[in-house]
Amino acid sequence: VTAFNVIKMLSKEKLVEILSAITAPERVSIDDAELYCYSYDASVHRCRPDAVVWPENAEEISRIVRFANEYRIPVIPRGAATGDMGGALAIKGGIIVDLTRMNKIKEVRIEDLQVTVEPGVVFAQLNQELGKYGFFFPPEPGSGDACTIGGMVACNASGLHAVKYGVTRDYVLSLEVVLPNGRIIRTGPKVLKTATGYDLTRLFVGSEGTLGIITEITLRIRPLPRHFATAVATFDDLIKAGKAVSQIMKSGIVPSALEIMDKLRIQAVNQVMNLALPEAEGTLLIEVDGHPDAIQEEINLISRICQDEGAVSVVCSTDPKEREKLWAGRKAAYAALIRLYKPHIKPIQAFGNDIVVPVSKVPLMLQSIQDISRKHNILIATMGHIGDGNLHPTIMIDVTRKEDWEKAKAAGAEIYQTAIELGGSIAGEHAIGITRAPFIELEHADLIEHWKRIKQAFDPNNIMNPGKIGLDTIPKDPLVFLAYAKYFEGKTDAA
Ligand SMILES: Cc1cc2nc3c(=O)[nH]c(=O)nc-3n(C[C@H](O)[C@H](O)[C@H](O)COP(=O)(O)OP(=O)(O)OC[C@H]3O[C@@H](n4cnc5c(N)ncnc54)[C@H](O)[C@@H]3O)c2cc1C
Repeated sequence: VTAFNVIKMLSKEKLVEILSAITAPERVSIDDAELYCYSYDASVHRCRPDAVVWPENAEEISRIVRFANEYRIPVIPRGAATGDMGGALAIKGGIIVDLTRMNKIKEVRIEDLQVTVEPGVVFAQLNQELGKYGFFFPPEPGSGDACTIGGMVACNASGLHAVKYGVTRDYVLSLEVVLPNGRIIRTGPKVLKTATGYDLTRLFVGSEGTLGIITEITLRIRPLPRHFATAVATFDDLIKAGKAVSQIMKSGIVPSALEIMDKLRIQAVNQVMNLALPEAEGTLLIEVDGHPDAIQEEINLISRICQDEGAVSVVCSTDPKEREKLWAGRKAAYAALIRLYKPHIKPIQAFGNDIVVPVSKVPLMLQSIQDISRKHNILIATMGHIGDGNLHPTIMIDVTRKEDWEKAKAAGAEIYQTAIELGGSIAGEHAIGITRAPFIELEHADLIEHWKRIKQAFDPNNIMNPGKIGLDTIPKDPLVFLAYAKYFEGKTDAA
């Protein structure tokens, strides 16, 4: 009997009765409209769950999971659903466990450089609180105003400042996790370092809800930098901008942000945000932070490097308003693309996005993206956290044309293949979910067997977020199956 069948054998009423007894009747839903809302995240996929539950503490989650394990019902943890790889969707049916009610900042311990939070705390909310003490949690995703700390830990999210400050994984000190059998564990002591055996904390970071539900997170925090300098360097060729990046990184300066945007992205941002940035083929947005004397010297050196590498213009600033404007524009770059063309020409995150290569290979990767774009006669708007080799080549298609989807899929597969050939990875920060599951063998063919054994050890009945990260079966071609269904088979979800 498959998990899906078991949930069908339990009547809907029975399911609601059990979940309500564990939580409360008003915190369980099988209502069609509610399930429809929960059939979405920020990905192209649509999958309808069987029920949604809103727990308020680890004990409730433990009882939900124990019940689901007994009946082999899939359990899908969910934060703010900003994930764009389908990670929080119930691809095999089951119960969505919405963690947004668990949104307390439990303890700020400045002298220990730590904060302990529930998983539903929103990134921006946490930094607002930490800011009062002059501290922050640095890995800032573009979705930081909405995404939860639980989702960030589950995806090992990062963003603008990873080049200097690292990714979420670098800040997680200890986790409380509900395992698939209902047991609640703590993965380690709340200390800044420990050297005692297997590191389960790091195993759960990036596990995308496939090993357990994270119910408490203790993070290391850092003092807020107080002085910044920025530079905007424009180039008449995107590859030249890529070469300047390698030079900056080997100069000994560690920028706190080093971003690249191509002309299409800059045009989109100018149009939506009114920034009046020069619309060059390649633009680098650079920031350094630290002591006022040091940042002045560093930004001058970066400016010289850009000029030596053929920059057409370099504009430096220490004005906080300029900095704010710059990063607001960068953060809006994806949303701006959506509004650049006619309503049916859209950026599609599903294909070839979010690759990482060694920084020295950035120019080669940028060249390949341009070649792939020409070969398939398809628009690709590129930007990325180029300082750590992380690129977001976003394919733009007419979503009403089936052949555009096919072209995007082929181009995306070639981008992934090239990144791997250059010694890189298919996912820098947005994780695997459903979208990249078909490609994971490209990168980890030798490791999948070991991954499966780890999964088996924690979750022998495969109830935790099944169908994700490439560990078990999903519809043969989930991209075609789910994304096309919406446009060509008149379906609004995959149910
Ligand atoms: C406009 C936009 C910009 C983005 N920019 C970035 C970026 O710059 N960097 C980046 O890294 N990502 C980015 N993302 C992707 C996404 O926002 C991040 O992956 C984010 O961390 C997801 O958090 P969430 O709370 O929305 O998680 P969800 O989407 O709800 O879930 C994501 C995954 O985490 C699992 N999960 C959630 N909570 C828990 C928990 N408590 N325990 C166990 N598993 C859990 C889910 O099952 C799912 O697999 C962006 C997305 C959008 C739409």
